[in-house]
Amino acid sequence: MVTPRAPQIPRRGNESERRPSRPDLDSVDLSPEQRTTCLPEQTAAHHALTIDLEDWHEGMLRRLTGSIGRVSQTVKTCTHRLLDLLDAHETRATFFVVGNVAEEHPELIREIARRGHEIGSHTHLHLPIYQQTRAEFRDAMDGTVKLLQDLSNQPILGFRAPLFSVGSVSHWCFEVLRELGFAYDSSVFPVGSSRYGIANCPDTPFKINTPSGPIVEFPIASWQVWGKRVPVGGGSYFRFLPIALLRKAFKDLEQRHHPAVIYVHPYEFHDGWLEVGWRKPKPVYLKYLVLHNFATRLIAQRLSVLLKEHRFGTLRRLYEGYA
Ligand SMILES: [Zn+2]
Repeated sequence: MVTPRAPQIPRRGNESERRPSRPDLDSVDLSPEQRTTCLPEQTAAHHALTIDLEDWHEGMLRRLTGSIGRVSQTVKTCTHRLLDLLDAHETRATFFVVGNVAEEHPELIREIARRGHEIGSHTHLHLPIYQQTRAEFRDAMDGTVKLLQDLSNQPILGFRAPLFSVGSVSHWCFEVLRELGFAYDSSVFPVGSSRYGIANCPDTPFKINTPSGPIVEFPIASWQVWGKRVPVGGGSYFRFLPIALLRKAFKDLEQRHHPAVIYVHPYEFHDGWLEVGWRKPKPVYLKYLVLHNFATRLIAQRLSVLLKEHRFGTLRRLYEGYA
């Protein structure tokens, strides 16, 4: 069985302080029929706030030009604004960092860690996993994890796939993550959609059993209502769902002791208008402009309401609660 990376990281304090608590990772069932195992219910649920730390135009430029361009200053100013909001609410979060942002703005990653937040990985170049081979994914992850560890002086225990691009709980990426020492993942969007999502998997934390050992999965928040699962974890859902419905959803999740994992992006906290200034834009570029600029202020407003009314923390803290 592979040992999680945490004990290998030199840190101050005694052994019990630096080694994160683990769920019951030894009760592994490796049969293909049983890929997942439910985790016990928590009696005092708190939720997890996660930030996908990426530049706003990475996906757009890759699609329209074939390259991702240089990481902008926008990601830095927006992240500072978000950090100040979290300080105001005395909330700590998990930042899933894209490696190229860390390379361009290393001092930003140091500051996030210094302000008490957890650093996780969101790959090196924000490529969907289905566009990579197993070997390419492993090589890129190995390098980016070392970079994030060095900058944050933290063990990197958590991962999120770009665009939730895992496809299935049987995907090879979970085995590779376990081999690389990751303890948990938060890439499963438990509602099927045309672009991503796994509709038939658990909607509360569970273990994925891989040939390399188990990894704990924290699916994005969803709400069981009217016989359906409704996504309530962030993104466009935070713009278009009425705040009264979100408040009801989170109240209901707490009553059921279901910890909610929500996600936001730094660009959703920008001021002004995000654009790259092309003179003759293609229609798909206009679509991206709308996606990155329309009603994004609602996300900050709704996040503030939820932070005020509920307890949020890092995913690592949630993970330790399953020990
Ligand atoms: Zn992303």
